[in-house]
Amino acid sequence: MLAVANLEVVYDDVVLALRGVSLEVPDQKIVALLGANGAGKSTVLRALSGLLDVHDGVIRKGGVTLDGKPVGHLRPAAMTKRGIKHVLEGRRIFKELTVEENLRVGAHAAPRETKANLTRVYDLFPRLVERKDGTAGYLSGGEQQMLAIGRALMSGPRYLLLDEPSLGLAPLVVAQIRDIIVEINNQGTAVLLVEQNATMALQIAHHGYVMETGRVVMDRPAAELLADDDVREFYLGLH
Ligand code: ATP
Repeated sequence: MLAVANLEVVYDDVVLALRGVSLEVPDQKIVALLGANGAGKSTVLRALSGLLDVHDGVIRKGGVTLDGKPVGHLRPAAMTKRGIKHVLEGRRIFKELTVEENLRVGAHAAPRETKANLTRVYDLFPRLVERKDGTAGYLSGGEQQMLAIGRALMSGPRYLLLDEPSLGLAPLVVAQIRDIIVEINNQGTAVLLVEQNATMALQIAHHGYVMETGRVVMDRPAAELLADDDVREFYLGLH
């Protein structure tokens, strides 16, 4: 299990972004992390994948644990080796490289499994097979998101951290991404899903957390959050 406990994170010595956040990502589950802009969701993902330093954020209290052992001090490459992979918001693919070259870049953490992982990714994303020799920068937004997720899968992660995978995509494409997340999870990978699209996230998640200004304010099974009218209205902006 991947977890954070009582996590306090400060940016630039002044911005208290997380004020004691605890959450758990059990193996082979989908966990939704919801909340308004600036609530601290991306910061939780950065803490979990070792990326805080790059953004001038530091863990001031609490910590990140993997199977009960502290891992909060590890850098992203070391987190990847332990099976934690973060897909950043905004699909940061290498636009000048081909689709397959992008995927091979993702394979450096698990070089011996490159062939098997490539097969897995192409099975999940038939669109990427069609475009495999094409320049990644020419892919549509949805295809770029698929490539970003596919590249993360090339390291064979046990935990996949997804930051807003549906952002800016048309409803049909959002539905495709949703189904692929379910499939990835069915294959045994746990997913921590940060989403503005609360309905989509809660439909596929086992558990849900809602954050507000650096704190977790709701921690319940996803189906309960989705069914609760007050939660829907006050925390999720759904009607
Ligand atoms: P969004 O959906 O807008 O990304 P979020 O819930 O993911 O929101 P975070 O990005 O984690 O929220 O931001 C939490 C708080 O930390 C916000 O007040 C934000 O302004 C601040 N913050 C985030 N990154 C930095 C940074 N690199 N330097 C300074 N402050 C930051």
